[in-house]
Amino acid sequence: MNELHYQLDLLKAMNDKLMEKEKMYTRIFEVTESAFLYQSFVSDQIATLGQWNRFFDFKVREPRNFNKILDLVEDAYVPELKRVLFLEKQGETSAQTDCQLKATKGWLQFRTFVIYDNDGQPVNKVVYILNVTKARIQNEELNYMAYYDSLTGLYNRNYFVRLLTEYIKTAKENNAVVSVMLLDIDDFRKVNDGLGIMVGDELVQQFGFFLKELCGDNMVACHLHSDTFCLALYDPSGPGSVDAVYREIQRRVGEPFHISSGQDITVTVSAGVAEYPEAAQSALELMNCAELVVFKCKKQGKNVLQYFAPPILENFLNSIELENKLKRAVFNNDFHMYYQPQYYAGNRRLRGVEALIRWKDEEKMISPATFIPVAEKNGSIITIGKWVVEESIRQYSAWRRQFGFPFIMSINISALQYKREDFVDSIVGILNRYAVRPAEVELEITESVLIDDFSAVYEKLKVLRSYGIRISLDDFGTGFSSLSYLKRLPIDTLKIDKSFIDTVMTDSATRVITESIINMVKSLGFESIAEGVEEEQQYQYLHAIGCDVIQGFLFNKPLSPQELELVLAKSPPAV
Ligand code: C2E
Ligand code: MG
Ligand code: MG
Repeated sequence: MNELHYQLDLLKAMNDKLMEKEKMYTRIFEVTESAFLYQSFVSDQIATLGQWNRFFDFKVREPRNFNKILDLVEDAYVPELKRVLFLEKQGETSAQTDCQLKATKGWLQFRTFVIYDNDGQPVNKVVYILNVTKARIQNEELNYMAYYDSLTGLYNRNYFVRLLTEYIKTAKENNAVVSVMLLDIDDFRKVNDGLGIMVGDELVQQFGFFLKELCGDNMVACHLHSDTFCLALYDPSGPGSVDAVYREIQRRVGEPFHISSGQDITVTVSAGVAEYPEAAQSALELMNCAELVVFKCKKQGKNVLQYFAPPILENFLNSIELENKLKRAVFNNDFHMYYQPQYYAGNRRLRGVEALIRWKDEEKMISPATFIPVAEKNGSIITIGKWVVEESIRQYSAWRRQFGFPFIMSINISALQYKREDFVDSIVGILNRYAVRPAEVELEITESVLIDDFSAVYEKLKVLRSYGIRISLDDFGTGFSSLSYLKRLPIDTLKIDKSFIDTVMTDSATRVITESIINMVKSLGFESIAEGVEEEQQYQYLHAIGCDVIQGFLFNKPLSPQELELVLAKSPPAV
């Protein structure tokens, strides 16, 4: 009798435990936001759990009821969903797929898990169903922002460069032509200043919409910035020819744009065209050439279309006899170094300075952006570059002793300098001569250095870093910057180009990209520097998204040595 009691107690205890477990699972399924389908192949049982009734208005009692689920989704997703729902037929253990629903256009994700016995027979299966509509929409928005300009709906600059590069690649294979047309609304400033930014924005938007409509199979358009647009035409001819497209643009801008605040605005547009393969070989070069032409159009009265011809560039260079003057300047040493401070975003304390060359030609300053490319072309960059390195390090060594604290001296190095056999030795030699610690010197390289000859430069960078010299990747975002190749680079710092900073407050796509660059840089353990920060608002934003260092006119322009000394005297840095 006692034995029977004991057995009964035991059964009751086991039953209570099971009931408790059941309660637990029921409760869990109540609070979950997903639906579940359980099928036992052993007992032939099928159960629906979780939020099944909120997802579906039918029950599934036997395997053929599964087809009711298939009826709900768009046709394109049926074959894959069928495979996932009946996964045991494939002998697989898990799979998942996202499907769009016919009725609501929402998205469901189906994840199936099957357990098999030792003989490979299915024992049971769970299908886990989630509503992923929100995530899909967010993802689509994010994708949209990475590729498109939010104001006009046209492609953004980065994506356009990619598409143009594709056009050029195909044209190379097929001996075809690619035309790049840069468009700039004449006197846009007057609209902006006179009628307000909102009106200016709406004009840009309407013109952008028009260009979008204009694009056909072999034509893509992007909004570069402000009132500047760029078109790429693959093998243009007939109604898709450059002239026909420009005529169409002329026709549109000849009619007024009706602005919602009541104004009617008529504008003219200047266009510069550069063509592959004649003008240049790469997307960025073509865009630069087209820009140079627009620049010329503007000087010659606007409202015109002009083609790039090599003389445009040559005239430009010859007009100031740049090459010869440059040679003389190297000989006479007419160069000066200026230094632009960089500050930590967090405490606004000095991190270091970037050494920037200045050329005073008969009391006129010539910008390095103009003469460095020429010096690279005629080879004098080697002589100039050597002088830059030596002068910056000499100056740093003197300041280091005078002020008694370290900071970083960042020096721009051009691609040709890296190619020299003796490059590493000469840098190390100069550091030794002036007793400067390698860790206090940073070399700035651009992506073009890497594109030319990745493996040779890669090895040199590694050697430089093994001495403790810092390496910084300059102008990031202007080339074919791919975030994925960053992982392979032996660098310490990444400088986000000014073109990003210029539009970061006005263009949401730029913000998305800038934030993902900074996150990537952080995860790789590099330091990030924002270049060309001119406004407090930009600084605040960059600081908030985790950018480490700020360089720009907001804090200082490039300063003469005397001017920098005033800064050093009052701001012990935080290295
Ligand atoms: P970079 O290395 O990207 O240098 C930054 C440029 O942005 C500098 O122009 C600087 O004056 C400018 N900048 C910085 N903050 C602001 C800002 O807030 N607003 C604006 N509008 N501009 C800002 P810079 O000195 O004219 O130099 C132009 C380029 O020439 C440099 O771009 C660099 O690529 C090259 N360069 C300059 N010095 C040297 C040099 O010694 N050697 C070599 N190889 N290249 C140099
Ligand atoms: Mg630089
Ligand atoms: Mg830069």
